[in-house]
Amino acid sequence: MVGWLHGPDAGAAAAPYPLAPWACDPRRSRGRRFAEPGAAPRTEHQRDRDRVVHSRAFRRLVYKTQVFVNHEGDLFRTRLTHSLEVAQIARSAARALRLNEDLVEAIALAHDLGHTPFGHAGQDALHERLAAQGGFEHNLQSLRVVDRLEQRYLGFDGLNLSFETREGILKHCARRHAERLVSADPEGPARRFLDGTQPSLEAQLVNLADEVAYQAHDVDDGVRSGLIAVEQLREVPLFARFHDQALAQPDAAAAGPRRVLAETLRRMLSAQVTDLVACSSAALDEHAPTDVDALRQLPALACFGATMREDTRTLKRFLFRALYRHPQVVRTTTLARTIVGELFDAYLAAPHEMSAEFASAMPPRLARSVADYVAGMTDRFARREHHRLTGRQLF
Ligand code: MG
Repeated sequence: MVGWLHGPDAGAAAAPYPLAPWACDPRRSRGRRFAEPGAAPRTEHQRDRDRVVHSRAFRRLVYKTQVFVNHEGDLFRTRLTHSLEVAQIARSAARALRLNEDLVEAIALAHDLGHTPFGHAGQDALHERLAAQGGFEHNLQSLRVVDRLEQRYLGFDGLNLSFETREGILKHCARRHAERLVSADPEGPARRFLDGTQPSLEAQLVNLADEVAYQAHDVDDGVRSGLIAVEQLREVPLFARFHDQALAQPDAAAAGPRRVLAETLRRMLSAQVTDLVACSSAALDEHAPTDVDALRQLPALACFGATMREDTRTLKRFLFRALYRHPQVVRTTTLARTIVGELFDAYLAAPHEMSAEFASAMPPRLARSVADYVAGMTDRFARREHHRLTGRQLF
């Protein structure tokens, strides 16, 4: 491994607008694992964003499930549209807080790259199969995709993203994983899970934008699918408040329930982002970190106010109960889990069925390689491969 590239690089470009003192200044990036010259006029984080957009893993997000499996309908969110919505929300908040928008976008677009086909069901199947090898976790896998699995550059594996983008991608990490990652990459993004420090504000913001985005779009998709009813949603105070506001508009009755729902969610999203910006801003005023390193030592400063935090939790609990554990969703996820688990077993028994770069791994590393291969699949490729290898068609 080439040394860590510290400090400002002569070729590094500045952000296009004045950043807050606690923002991640692209000219003061902690650098990349493999030293590369700057690419002005692009900033280092703009360059990260571009690398993510051009990656294979990013293109596959279009055919990966968020909650509803791809073939259930064309209008449901996929991991790709989810990631774009996260980027949009996080960028709005970042601009209002004078943070590094390019960095926020790079993190948002990369945050779900490690998801298996069929959402969480696929992850559970791989986690179970890899119990002896430390398990499978989509967050760690996202980092693994950008650090190793993408193969597009001549000099190194992975996309060689900057520290700040990798820090944002690794949003959770159990201590045992952090210890392993730190021993291979002492200055890498897992260190904070041992030190107990926070990531940049940009990373914190994407994390909250992720929640805001999926709650709003899962309500939308949930209603569209017919699995949840607006009447049920009215038990959730956050939804009821903005639904009442939307219904009180003069055109509401004539516009019909679909537009009223869109208006409700638009107002809800906007209120969440406004609250997030106002409360984070107040927390920043209170703590006044001198720079991003000082900010990393503080408690998390990207936050909702107490009321919005509680309201958001109530909505989240509702979605778990009414949508993610809906019998119809559970039925699909059970099938999905079976497909992913059986694919893993089939490739482990016959590695030559995988593409060559994965098939060459030897035990004990073969299991991880099989998981990498399966995790990278789109829903439909996983379905096709499962049919080809087992002769059964589960969907
Ligand atoms: Mg997400």
